[in-house]
Amino acid sequence: MHIVQTMRHNSRHFEPSALDSVGIVGAGPGGLATGILLASHGVPTTIYEADSKPGGRCQTVQDQGFKFDRGPTFFLMPEVLDEILALTGETAQSVGNLTELDPMYRLDIGWAGKVERIDAVRDLSQMKARLNEIFPGDGDAFLEFCRLNEKKLSAFEPVLRNSFDSPFDAFRPDFVKGGLRLDPFRSLKTVNASYFSHPVSQIAVGFQSKYLGMSAAECPSLFSILPLIEYGFGVWHPKGGCGQLMQSLANLFVRLGGTIRLDSSVSGLLVEGTKCNGVVLQDQSEHRHDHVVVNADAAWAINNLMPSHIRGAWGRRRTKKAKYSCSTAMLYLGVDGEVDLPHHTIRVAEEYEQNLRDISRDNGRSGVVSEDPSFYVCNPSVTDDSMAPDGCSSLYILIPTPNQKSGLDWSAELPALRQKVLGTLATEYGIDLSDRIRVECVETPQTWAQSNIEFGATFSLSHTLDQMAFRRPNHRWPGVDGLWMVGGGTHPGSGLPVIFLGAKSTAESILKSSGIENQLPASKPVAQLATFSTGAPSTKEVTHV
Ligand SMILES: Cc1cc2nc3c(=O)[nH]c(=O)nc-3n(C[C@H](O)[C@H](O)[C@H](O)COP(=O)(O)OP(=O)(O)OC[C@H]3O[C@@H](n4cnc5c(N)ncnc54)[C@H](O)[C@@H]3O)c2cc1C
Repeated sequence: MHIVQTMRHNSRHFEPSALDSVGIVGAGPGGLATGILLASHGVPTTIYEADSKPGGRCQTVQDQGFKFDRGPTFFLMPEVLDEILALTGETAQSVGNLTELDPMYRLDIGWAGKVERIDAVRDLSQMKARLNEIFPGDGDAFLEFCRLNEKKLSAFEPVLRNSFDSPFDAFRPDFVKGGLRLDPFRSLKTVNASYFSHPVSQIAVGFQSKYLGMSAAECPSLFSILPLIEYGFGVWHPKGGCGQLMQSLANLFVRLGGTIRLDSSVSGLLVEGTKCNGVVLQDQSEHRHDHVVVNADAAWAINNLMPSHIRGAWGRRRTKKAKYSCSTAMLYLGVDGEVDLPHHTIRVAEEYEQNLRDISRDNGRSGVVSEDPSFYVCNPSVTDDSMAPDGCSSLYILIPTPNQKSGLDWSAELPALRQKVLGTLATEYGIDLSDRIRVECVETPQTWAQSNIEFGATFSLSHTLDQMAFRRPNHRWPGVDGLWMVGGGTHPGSGLPVIFLGAKSTAESILKSSGIENQLPASKPVAQLATFSTGAPSTKEVTHV
């Protein structure tokens, strides 16, 4: 067993807290953020991580000098990470060495026998012009759309920043008022179609539902805030990738006095009566804590770590019947030479609607691999020379697939899918990788599932209305004192900034329940932090561009 030694931070001293200790199951982004918040309040905190490195779905995959992000590559809203780090003397920029990408990403959308290319930039006047070229009026609609979503983000803020400890919380006046403004009952697809005439424009502001592993038709319209988050806050690349950022957060947690125990798989929770008193590791050793925070995938943890009598409303039947996100097949390719692609390219097949049906049919159960799949390529070597050896490039290819409810055998499916995608790169982009691949690593829905992710659903429980807010696993586990949850499968949901906000609510609740003063500064409303490339603080001032 590898134990990361506890170190003290040189320049800061944190007073010991009233708590003996907190144990966290998992060093994913949610676990690390919770650990940093608690350790920076002087709470002795230990993270138990099953893997040999921190980061979870957001770790670095390394082979022969090539580095790949395993999962997240779009680092969004660094302002939220700043909030997590507020007491540590660090910022998102100081731990992440962030570069803002311009353009943010390239969209190649197959339509009517040709490809419409959109280089998404934060300059709204350029976006207006480009979308008006695609269909007259769609550019003007884009500005209105940004304005709508700024209001929606404000309305969503109370939901993002608070826990739902009881269904009655849903009736709090700020939730009710905000909820109505979110237009929750229509789908993202319907709302986008009401703003934009051309299907290509609709895809340009709707493909972001894939960040949640959903199609725009399944996704509640409140998630039209996702493009606002890109255009209002930018898309960032941490030096060395998002996995390196997680490693830096793990190092910071240790400097703050926290302990990370790697290769330490938790096999169960120590529940005595109605109190969770610690964790049991696979070697049967018991580790007692005042509080336990579970960061392992929520649905998996409920089924595999919780004794059945505490699962409550989330019994095995419910987790089995619940809706899950899609999964992904991943190719991590270390290749010779440069690759003529921008940092992020999203290739949307002409059969996009068919792709979505293939993946999500019967929530994945009858899912199949598409004939002509859409996919996303990350080529970080164009921005960051630390990702690959000199003269080489690290390519990350993500192909959305059905989750493992499908039962597909990926040892049989992957070779053909790989050939299709590499074939498309050769024919559509003129990038023939056949003799250039030096290193190849893969991830499939089956391997994701083996990493303790229920049904290999990479974006966890679906973000449908019936699985959000008080209907999603929440921060405080009901009926058991001292048991908490964080991460993409819990409220408020998946995506790094959202997971960080969930971690903040959880840590603040633990501090409060233990009578420890919360020393974090008051946060600024997130929507007010959005800026646009004109420098205006609000889209209201740029609607005349
Ligand atoms: C392919 C992909 C691309 C993504 N892209 C983006 C993106 O660009 N931007 C973005 O913001 N988000 C993205 N996400 C979504 C999300 O931000 C990440 O999945 C994120 O890593 C989820 O964090 P988490 O806190 O839920 O924990 P996880 O990353 O799921 O980590 C959980 C940890 O718990 C550990 N664990 C599990 N079981 C045990 C056990 N029994 N004992 C001890 N430890 C255990 C695991 O090993 C893991 O380290 C992406 C996700 C995927 C999969």
